Amino acid sequence: MSEIKLHTTLDSYPKDHIDKGTEPYITPNFINNKFTKSTTSEWIDLHDPATDQIISKVPQSTDQELNEAIESANTTFKTWKHTSIIKRQQLVFKFVELLKKNHDRLAAVIVAEQGKNFDDAKGDVLRGLQVAEYATSVTTELQGVQLEVATDLETLMIREPLGVIGAICPFNFPAMIPLWTIPMVIATGNTAVIKPSERDPGACLIFAELLIEAGVPSGVINIIHGKVPTVNKLLDHPDIKAIQFVGSSKAGDYIYTKGTSNKKRVQANLAAKNHVVVVPDANKAQFVNSITGAFAGAAGQRCMAASVLVTVGSTKEWIPDVIEAAKNLNVGSGFDKKSDLGPMISKQALQRAHDIIEEGVKTGANLVLDGRDIKVDGFPNGYFLGPTILTNVTRDNIAYKEEIFAPVLSILSVDTLDEAIEIVNSNPYGNGVALFTTSGIQAKKFTKEIDPGQVGINVPIPVPLPMFSFTGNKGSFNGDLNFYGKAGFTFLTQAKTITSLWKTSLIEDSKPSTSMPTHN
Ligand code: NAD
Repeated sequence: MSEIKLHTTLDSYPKDHIDKGTEPYITPNFINNKFTKSTTSEWIDLHDPATDQIISKVPQSTDQELNEAIESANTTFKTWKHTSIIKRQQLVFKFVELLKKNHDRLAAVIVAEQGKNFDDAKGDVLRGLQVAEYATSVTTELQGVQLEVATDLETLMIREPLGVIGAICPFNFPAMIPLWTIPMVIATGNTAVIKPSERDPGACLIFAELLIEAGVPSGVINIIHGKVPTVNKLLDHPDIKAIQFVGSSKAGDYIYTKGTSNKKRVQANLAAKNHVVVVPDANKAQFVNSITGAFAGAAGQRCMAASVLVTVGSTKEWIPDVIEAAKNLNVGSGFDKKSDLGPMISKQALQRAHDIIEEGVKTGANLVLDGRDIKVDGFPNGYFLGPTILTNVTRDNIAYKEEIFAPVLSILSVDTLDEAIEIVNSNPYGNGVALFTTSGIQAKKFTKEIDPGQVGINVPIPVPLPMFSFTGNKGSFNGDLNFYGKAGFTFLTQAKTITSLWKTSLIEDSKPSTSMPTHN
């Protein structure tokens, strides 16, 4: 395996799409703090979604490389777990500083590989960076408890790291989601083997470079690549103690079932269908801007995208305003400052969205804004879909049932807030929901009666900051403990109790006791 360098540096990174004919860069493995070229014969083409050009070759890491990464993490854990908490906290502080310094570089690589616009890509990095900042609270969050339970008899309960954590990431937040794992793993004294999405691993590899610069020892974080064989290795290897997965429900259900049957701890964030409900007393301008940005932003490729609108009563008269606002969004290259949304991730994802729209219309929905024939100047081969809006959507329509993961808004119209609540609560997913209203009473009723785990009042994408957890529920989550926040620390650690007796009075001669100890 030969060592290779990343194709970007702090000062040199793409400001535009790579010229036609440029040789694709090789995405390296990262094992034992070394970037190496895989010896695989199986390479995955990474296409710039705005141009369709192949810009990188991503390896299906070989079985030997996967084993090396896991062994590196497992061997390192044996000593790393004894590193003092202050030292680990300092490493995360340094990592945060380097993330800030490399913010633009990271965003540029995301634009090139994933397609989202530059400001949105900076937001992707920022939301991960905030998890890293939160991880530095480990010195408070991991404090143990101690009690003198009887004279001179004390019990101390501490939380210790688990071992090697396997992380499997999706394409849509190539910075944020690996950062749900990396700083939390370092802070808690675990080690990790991370599989970024094979469609955009670039940001994750920059994190690796920054970890070396921050002084994180070799073997603490390792990065390998590929598709199902890589996932299966993480699920089957006995040295992997827990799995963190974020992605589609199909993959997540498989990973949760297999991982837990192999006796691993698993947390899996899955697909979603997020509803926005609007009632007539809402502030119309605030609502129109919010729903438009939240369904079309990032080309609808957010697990918290507002993909369903439920209008209550007369608010269906506001639909033309939403259509107008959506029409005014600019679709284009993520490097173009004017673009509000970029392309979708792949030709297949674009085709699937087209098929769902067509089928949805065939089965009764009205297509009131059609983004399928969008042309973006200078980007004839990009996977672009313009904002698309369907009205008269029923609950049995494919456009309502499927997570389309595209800039497509499905609108249902009902007469009362109770009907809207019933629709949301009957949906199998439970990531997020929002209500637009100016009434505190309606808001209170809504927050009490609604099921999904992340609720917004006049906030269209209500993902909390990382001192709370990402609290999606129902079909959007498999597991018991959520990512980051206090639950995140609990997921990555296990409890140990230590009971000690240090007699302060004279030890008298006594007989052995065979009965259950009491605490008198
Ligand atoms: P995906 O499930 O296709 O891929 C996610 C990861 O799983 C990738 O690393 C991929 O290589 C791997 N994978 C894919 N198919 C697999 C299979 N059959 N068996 C084992 N592993 C497999 O998801 P994606 O398209 O990359 O991401 C989009 C999905 O992720 C959407 O459904 C979105 O809602 C979801 N998502 C959820 C959250 C959340 O917090 N709930 C956040 C982001 C994305």
